[in-house]
Amino acid sequence: MNILGIESSCDETASAVYTDKGLQSNVIASQTVHEQYGGVVPELASRAHHKTIWSTVQQSLEEAGTSLDKIDAVAVTQGPGLMGSLLVGLCFAKGLCLSRDIPIIGVNHMDAHIYANFIEGQPEYPFVSLTVSGGHTQLVYVESPFEHTLLGQTRDDAAGEAFDKIGKILGLPYPAGPEIDERSKKGDPQFHDFPQAMLDNDFEFSFSGLKTSVMYYLEDKEDPEAFLAEHLNDICASVARAITEVLIKKLRNAVVHTGVQTITLAGGVSANSMLRQKAKALARQKDLQLFIPHIAYCTDNAAMIAITGHMMARRGLFSDMNLKPFASLKQAVS
Ligand code: ATP
Ligand code: MG
Ligand code: FE
Repeated sequence: MNILGIESSCDETASAVYTDKGLQSNVIASQTVHEQYGGVVPELASRAHHKTIWSTVQQSLEEAGTSLDKIDAVAVTQGPGLMGSLLVGLCFAKGLCLSRDIPIIGVNHMDAHIYANFIEGQPEYPFVSLTVSGGHTQLVYVESPFEHTLLGQTRDDAAGEAFDKIGKILGLPYPAGPEIDERSKKGDPQFHDFPQAMLDNDFEFSFSGLKTSVMYYLEDKEDPEAFLAEHLNDICASVARAITEVLIKKLRNAVVHTGVQTITLAGGVSANSMLRQKAKALARQKDLQLFIPHIAYCTDNAAMIAITGHMMARRGLFSDMNLKPFASLKQAVS
């Protein structure tokens, strides 16, 4: 089965082709228009998707050495994400399906982050996924394909959001996660003990207090600017340690609770080198199989949408043409 995957939930316009032989192409057009605003501007994101979606899809077909008439179904991100951005991808996918008379598959973006692990690996069920992205931080028990139980999630900011908001306080460009990661490799993670919230709760997270504590920590210095200039890498390393230690502690709790022998990381923050190292250490300690997507499949991409669509198509999980986008996971279940 040849699946065309389309992703447009936030600020990446992406398209990929996945067949019975695996991933054939993976094209991403990242929007740069948002950099000057320090965050994604929804209206501009929709317009940029609208402008680039056709060329992105064409390029993914070309790179896969295929054409639309050989595509059996179109998998498209249904949500969660920005409504205007989702609508562009969804309407475009519907147009393609109508014109070729092929079925559409609405893909849950958070499921797709998890199934990105299957592009290059074969995690055994059941497993626990630590899904850490710009908008979500979740521990998910995956019993079998598309049988998920949410063990816990963040009560406020997501892990990626924490990286990005703290980066803003530190004067770094958006999104700050990758730069904090790079800088933390050159800094001292023990430089300062930033607070780790909700350690008495097994599976839930809270990251909003961390950014406030970084702000107060800097404000208390006699010359915050000079201090920051001297210790930026150390602060980045200490922040990364605070975030990743909590994530790994809760992942360990989930392993103990469920008794799984396999764990996966998913989402943009799973690109973080400190998190990857700590997950590897946890897997060694507890003798677990660990899967982490290749960096290119951690942040938003269409390869994960296409492979999830392929898995859904094999199970006959096609959608109706009346498929509607949903902005948040809460709307997906109601
Ligand atoms: P969601 O998937 O929840 O809808 P999203 O799609 O915006 O949100 P992703 O694309 O999965 O999120 O991830 C983006 C996030 O990952 C950003 O917050 C970014 O800062 C963070 N990120 C990317 N690389 C790294 C890294 N190396 N270290 C830490 N954070 C990172
Ligand atoms: Mg993005
Ligand atoms: Fe995402």
